Amino acid sequence: MTAETKVRAACLIGWPAAHSRSPLIHHYWLRTLEIEGGYSIEAIPPEGFAEFVLHLSTHGFVGANVTIPHKERALALSIPDGRARAVGAANTLWYEGGELRSTNTDIEGFINNLDACAPGWDGIEDALVLGAGGASRAVIFGLIERGIKRVHLANRTFDRARALADQFGASVHPVAWDGIAALLPRAGLLVNATSLGMHGQPALEVDTGLLPPHGVVADLVYVPLETPLLSAARARGLKIADGLGMLLHQAVRGFELWFGQRPEVTPELRALVEADLTEV
Ligand code: NAP
Repeated sequence: MTAETKVRAACLIGWPAAHSRSPLIHHYWLRTLEIEGGYSIEAIPPEGFAEFVLHLSTHGFVGANVTIPHKERALALSIPDGRARAVGAANTLWYEGGELRSTNTDIEGFINNLDACAPGWDGIEDALVLGAGGASRAVIFGLIERGIKRVHLANRTFDRARALADQFGASVHPVAWDGIAALLPRAGLLVNATSLGMHGQPALEVDTGLLPPHGVVADLVYVPLETPLLSAARARGLKIADGLGMLLHQAVRGFELWFGQRPEVTPELRALVEADLTEV
């Protein structure tokens, strides 16, 4: 695309070019909101990333999503908001007053999906988060911002849980991986932010039967659409929030920033992306 192109366009920058659902999502919104715009995938290697991002508008884009392996570089090359700084990675870029800004939309993706799937979930006192990678940071930031009193954080590598707890302050309590079962009875919210349960990975061995009856279970994994953890929670009658919901909700803000209208996560959009995931 060239600078002369009149149509507003955004893109996803990654390397190597991966199969992503982002074009499907943004094209759906462009179509249904009748906005003339574009969204493409740009495969940019690490050595070309700085040049591409620092001249994003010259390349014809009003903004971008950023994925592996560029999220940390994107933060460093732009003016990040508090969310991107707290997560340590940016996934959305846009121009404001001629300056390139960045944020991390996984936080609102996670929280807005919970609000949609389990309204009132935030009446809880204790949340239990499993995993201490990048996604976990977004989850923890969102839970603290929402005022959850205690966030227990368990990770296979305990030191990573402790480091995150140190970063986020007194409401985050690091827990050893073998301490999960003891915490389940008071966990009003259980979040899987590990890659366990993902297609090709072992299942996450957690007994959802130990959760309280009002417990909510969220899983960030979206391949498969319903992980063994979510199936077990659903069978018990617990409310669940899945990874696809988070993926769809995290896309909303970028679209709004680039194209000026806040889109909605509709059942029709969800069905479209579900079909694509099932195909793969
Ligand atoms: P990451 O930074 O690589 O972190 C992976 C986490 O999984 C670490 O805490 C790691 O523990 C843990 N883990 C991996 N294998 C394990 C095992 N065998 N037993 C116990 N723990 C294990 O990944 P991430 O970016 O945070 O992503 C985590 C998951 O969230 C992925 O499945 C990703 O696809 C998903 N995600 C979904 C969305 C969405 O929109 N739905 C957004 C972001 C991420 P150690 O520290 O001990 O290695």
